[in-house]
Amino acid sequence: MDIHLSATQATNEERMAIDAVLGAPSSRWDGGDRSRSADDHLAEGTGHAARERRHLLLPALHAANDRVGWISEGALNYICERLTIPPAEAYGVASFYHMFSLKPRPKRVVYVCDDIACMCAGSDAIVAALEQNIGPEGSLTKDGSTTWFRSPCLGLCDQAPAALSASYGEQRRDQTVLHRATTMSILAPRWPPVVVTGSDRVGARLLTFDAHPATHVPTLRLSRSQPPLLEQSERPSDFAALRRALALGPERIVEEVKASKLMGRGGAAFPTGRKWEAVAREPETPHYIVCNADESEPGTFKDLCLMTWRAPSLIEAMTIAAFAAGCAKGYIYIRGEYEYARRRLDEMSYFAHERGMLGKDILGTGFDFDIEIRSGAGAYICGEETALFNSIEGYRGEPRNKPPYPVQRGLFGKPTIVNNVETLVNIPDIILNGGAEYAKIGTPESTGTKLFCLSGCVQKPGVCEVPFGTTLRALIELAGGVRGGRKLQAVLLGGAAGAFLTPDEIDVPLSFEGVRAIKATLGSGVVMLFDDTIDLRKIVARIARFFRDESCGQCVPCRVGTVRQEELLERLASGKSNGKLNGERALLGEIGQAMRDASICGLGQTASSAVESAIAKFDLFGTEPR
Ligand code: SF4
Repeated sequence: MDIHLSATQATNEERMAIDAVLGAPSSRWDGGDRSRSADDHLAEGTGHAARERRHLLLPALHAANDRVGWISEGALNYICERLTIPPAEAYGVASFYHMFSLKPRPKRVVYVCDDIACMCAGSDAIVAALEQNIGPEGSLTKDGSTTWFRSPCLGLCDQAPAALSASYGEQRRDQTVLHRATTMSILAPRWPPVVVTGSDRVGARLLTFDAHPATHVPTLRLSRSQPPLLEQSERPSDFAALRRALALGPERIVEEVKASKLMGRGGAAFPTGRKWEAVAREPETPHYIVCNADESEPGTFKDLCLMTWRAPSLIEAMTIAAFAAGCAKGYIYIRGEYEYARRRLDEMSYFAHERGMLGKDILGTGFDFDIEIRSGAGAYICGEETALFNSIEGYRGEPRNKPPYPVQRGLFGKPTIVNNVETLVNIPDIILNGGAEYAKIGTPESTGTKLFCLSGCVQKPGVCEVPFGTTLRALIELAGGVRGGRKLQAVLLGGAAGAFLTPDEIDVPLSFEGVRAIKATLGSGVVMLFDDTIDLRKIVARIARFFRDESCGQCVPCRVGTVRQEELLERLASGKSNGKLNGERALLGEIGQAMRDASICGLGQTASSAVESAIAKFDLFGTEPR
């Protein structure tokens, strides 16, 4: 394929960064010497071989962006030349992700979270101060060294109001979590301290993930003899579960997982054992396993904790799953904002190789399996499994139509297991103690324990692990209740794609069947509290803006519906709907129904769930005059 590039060249720095990912050019097809003869190039390989490396597009874009802070035309040209990708296609991929810039920008970028948990902790005041002091998002600090952007949820809700500082350079991305005072001291040193009404949290500390888990994320657990998942040692174990699994053999492993009745924790709640069995039975090879670690649902931060503190268990679980289903290779797709957790995974992967637990001939059994870790770059939709495949394969992270399902045609068109981090971390326990033992915990339909992310107006924000069936009221009490002893106004259960509950509904048992009975969902385990000081209209409007921003735009019902939903809420909030309230409510319902019925993926199908539940249950916009 002939590709046509502009004359702009990459700098040496950009070339070195890209070559570090792609290797040095080896043939004229992948950017080598083009002056050599046609006979020479045939001897060197073919363009087909270069194009087969398209899956390296996202890592190559990261390399360029993370070395200099943005992706220049020259760097994009060089990547296109190396991978034989038309520049328009590569541009389409690069521009898909929030964390990449195609315009020059400084090497330090501060992402200030303005999502719902941080709103409850006063992020509006931080954003207003930054806008007043250094200008709208994208403006530079006076010394030109730093810029700032608003960000959707960063997965730091337990530390709200939070920001993330990303520094680019030779060390690639170096991320630091910032609290309010630090954000202001970096971006606006002469600005007086921000006073945030309604928040009793002191933001004068710089917190990183190095903090001890007990201070970083309080973890609590009800009535189970074993220690909570998050408080178990983070040191690498001797992989006892993997040893036992290798002795059991693939069929017995699948039987144990089926006996455990482990349901997927990513939101869809599909039985894990059945998924593994379906892939194991597919004659087409190779098989893949993908760990979906692109945790981006507003209010969710449990997978970040698991990858930080339980990385060995995750790698062990993926290896067990791969052995059971005959997978040749695994990928962990981790969200770009979780660089620290990625480094933990890299370390643990290295350790597992050293100990013969990953790679060739694992523990002398002849079983080969390896894991590659891929970083996303800021796109919520890549948490949808088929969008995630496209992202890994080097395309825009747009969902595919289903069927075919991933167990038949998944990553690279091959049978693929996709499991969430929390789902997988349960596997070593199931293998060591038996599926039947695991199934004794929780309720008959929802077995085991569940991690919940408590945030918003809660006394002790953090991750709590409880057996399924625990009531929402007990969970809230476990986390100290409503902050400052204030009155509970509402709970958002399951995330932006979940539902609002009233204080009268908090005796609901937290199980798949329990929440289904009240037309709610556990979703990704979000439990966000709103006290009586919070303006729910603003929260609902932020959710609508989130979905409008994150819609990939591929299908009309979602692309248009999320915009119309946001506009409608703005009209209601600004009072421009006077005299038409009932009509506006009916229209909102129609938009929601169209998105549910005709959207390709779960984003569009659930984009109106929380909004509609809030409008149905709370008197947000008054009543129609008669
Ligand atoms: Fe994209 Fe929305 Fe359609 Fe999903 S529903 S494919 S996010 S436009």
